[in-house]
Amino acid sequence: MHNFTYKNRELYAEEVPVKKIIEKTGTPLYIYSHKTLLTHLNAYREAFDGYPHIICFALKANPNTSILRILSKAGSGADVVSGGELFLAKKSGIPSQKIVYAGVGKTEEEIAYALKNRILMFNVESSDELMAINKVAGRLKVKAPIALRVNPDIDAKTHPYISTGLKKHKFGIPIDEALEHYKLASRLPNIKILGIHKHIGSQITKTTPFVDALKKVLAFTDELKSLGITIEYLDMGGGLGISYSEEDEPPHPRDLARAVLPILKKHKVTLIIEPGRSITGNAGILVTKVLYLKKGHDKEFVIVDAGMNDLIRPSIYGAYHNIIPVLKKNRNKVLSDIVGPICESGDFLAKDRKIERPSQGELLAVMGAGAYGFSMSSNYNARRRAAEVLVKGKEFFVIRERQTYNDLVRGEKVPDFLKG
Ligand SMILES: *Cc1c(COP(=O)(O)O)cnc(C)c1O
Repeated sequence: MHNFTYKNRELYAEEVPVKKIIEKTGTPLYIYSHKTLLTHLNAYREAFDGYPHIICFALKANPNTSILRILSKAGSGADVVSGGELFLAKKSGIPSQKIVYAGVGKTEEEIAYALKNRILMFNVESSDELMAINKVAGRLKVKAPIALRVNPDIDAKTHPYISTGLKKHKFGIPIDEALEHYKLASRLPNIKILGIHKHIGSQITKTTPFVDALKKVLAFTDELKSLGITIEYLDMGGGLGISYSEEDEPPHPRDLARAVLPILKKHKVTLIIEPGRSITGNAGILVTKVLYLKKGHDKEFVIVDAGMNDLIRPSIYGAYHNIIPVLKKNRNKVLSDIVGPICESGDFLAKDRKIERPSQGELLAVMGAGAYGFSMSSNYNARRRAAEVLVKGKEFFVIRERQTYNDLVRGEKVPDFLKG
């Protein structure tokens, strides 16, 4: 579901014509819908209503602080994977007691920062990390609340780069070794065992992998209980997919809740859910301008002003994004590659796509770009990072300015001998 629709053949973001926004900001531009963001968050809240839970939005999907404020005001917590993300979560008013911290490579500095902020818990991914947290907590004279991230060896049946729950992955602790890790944690003086965590991957389009993984984790928590280790929080991670094309229809949060709540009911745990993509993915589009058309060998190249530095998902995951004209004209369709200006053959937004032949200067909208879009963008080819706009009803707000050329050298230092 989203709020980018045609009215009289013209694309609108909620009640604002996309073209009107572009006249003010230029391209490439990310546009987000306030209404879609809230609809998606509330879908989770309603689905899990009645069962104790915390929704911790996975910041890495979209860490713009205006977006975080919207989600925070609507009750969301945060799943962070770095000190920087923790900083952004705090800055956006997300309460520490709704923040969980995952990631295989937390530094001591980041651990101390999180302890000082009294986050809900660390999702710990190795025994070395557990020891490091114990050490830093001892130094700060606090007890560190932790969950161990277990790897349930469940195939999420998604793209290999965004699958995380198999034995071969770097994430988490293999579930058959987790008992030893919990025993170790229970012996460490500055560690407080609070929960258990798993996250098996992203863009998951069936509920079965969630159910299978949860069953394994719950069976394991029963085992822990018999050893006197109680689990208060069960963090089931994120990963629910979204629809990138008209054909696929991934489960709604309601379907996820219906699948997992019956299994959870008899366990007295607070559930943590960490959705990222399913909150912001379809709440954002990337608008780009057609610069040139060029005849290739067997197809046309549509050269646009957004590249892989703005949206890298097609390049690294072969991800599909629907691309539609901002002004519909009903023209003949041609087989095209929609490519960016970057000096890489991997720089494309779409391959072998049948689209209406656009004209020079025309605007195209890349749909489903609200998650892992701007957040994975870079300055490659010294391209300035795009601006971001939030639409709310009839109004729109620039929530991040387009970078300037001076931003490209911010932080650089030139040694004296090179000056002048
Ligand atoms: C990336 C990630 C998420 C969010 O995944 P989505 O597919 O965007 O919902 C949640 N938890 C952890 C630990 C992650 O690494």
